[in-house]
Amino acid sequence: MMRVNMKNEHIAVMNNGVSELVEEDVEDLVVEPQFSEAEIKATLDTGIWFLLFPARLEKEYRKQSVNGAIKAYRFNGIFAFVVFTIICISVFKLIPVDSLSRCVFVYALAGAVMLGVRVFSFFRIFDRWFYWYVTISGIVMITVAVYANNAIPMGAASTLSYIGLTYILFFTYCFVGLRLQLSMLANLLGGVFGVILTYATGAQMNWLIMPQTFATASLLAMFLAYGLKRQERINYLQSYLLELSLKTSERLSREDALTGLANRRYLNEQMEHEWSRMLRYQLPLTIMMIDIDSFKRYNDALGHLAGDKCLQQVAKIIQGLAYRSGELAARYGGEEFVLLFPNMDKDAAKSQAARLLQRLAAAAMPHPDGNGKMVSVSIGISVCTPTSTTTVNQLLRQADLALYQAKALGKNRYELL
Ligand code: GH3
Ligand code: MG
Ligand code: MG
Repeated sequence: MMRVNMKNEHIAVMNNGVSELVEEDVEDLVVEPQFSEAEIKATLDTGIWFLLFPARLEKEYRKQSVNGAIKAYRFNGIFAFVVFTIICISVFKLIPVDSLSRCVFVYALAGAVMLGVRVFSFFRIFDRWFYWYVTISGIVMITVAVYANNAIPMGAASTLSYIGLTYILFFTYCFVGLRLQLSMLANLLGGVFGVILTYATGAQMNWLIMPQTFATASLLAMFLAYGLKRQERINYLQSYLLELSLKTSERLSREDALTGLANRRYLNEQMEHEWSRMLRYQLPLTIMMIDIDSFKRYNDALGHLAGDKCLQQVAKIIQGLAYRSGELAARYGGEEFVLLFPNMDKDAAKSQAARLLQRLAAAAMPHPDGNGKMVSVSIGISVCTPTSTTTVNQLLRQADLALYQAKALGKNRYELL
């Protein structure tokens, strides 16, 4: 599941043409992790012996790993080409003169396939066919190598030529980013096509050396690739876990433990941020300071635990008022809260405050003072359009003053300075 913060629509609408603001909001996109820690750990616990994740995770893994595979391919391709060139030169030196032209032709074909696929890998539009073209090129390379080893008399170059075949097998398994199943497929088809091509051109198969070389090299490469692929998957899960725990600690570092609202540290950060944003676009910023009425008596009468529960309930109601991006509900300390509303003018601020009082009244949480008294809050509001000579702390102090007034005028009300 992906949760994406809503864009600050009201800002975008009010400021047609201020596209910068909308762009900035795009940065706020919060992409929630798709898999839980428990899911990842459970998958890790299976040992991944079959190189397979549960379906949903497998899909995500493949989506991610193809990008890594393409990058690795571009790099490993250089290495492969260097090795290939060295083998070519040595084989051409050692091979009997009669076989040279055929050998050059076959090797040039293989070289062309390698080069062609490398060129492919640099074009992003071919990325979706990455596994296809790499598998096909693997099949072609193996076919050609099997054919060359059988059909062309290599003479003194024969050992080297077999080594070349071995390298191709190892590359197909371990270095081109193919999944193990695809490498096995390329291997099998390449071997079969090589034999067919050998007989089709009227040459003889060397059944004495060829199958043994091919089979042992394949098995060894497969074994190595299996270990590599399994480790890749384990690494993927472990880095996913790490990312999850980083996200969690990031969230915890800006949350108040009791209420789950933003803590003061994060509030300060966001106040500064929204202040400078509103300064840039010359839009009003509203700050509300909220304090629970007669909360000391609530605590004294019902106990600290009941007090905590009450704080949580009030916090939930306050949180319900800050839902657009940029808006923030925070616990300022004790039984005091702050609401931050970017791009909100006085009238809107007043009706938000009235809404908060209404919602609390509707929640009807009894206060131990009795006589039908319910838990209520007093709210101090301050609204201003930032200038370069004022600070957000002045705005906060004003909200505090307004709160003081609201208390003095009888509580359960809002005041605006
Ligand atoms: P007023 O209407 O003027 O705001 O009066 P008040 O009693 O709410 O204000 P006062 O500042 O005297 O008391 C605040 C009380 O809030 C003191 C303390 O018992 C309680 N309090 C502060 N933080 C917590 C908390 O985390 N949990 C609980 N249960 N109580 C808290
Ligand atoms: Mg207080
Ligand atoms: Mg109070």
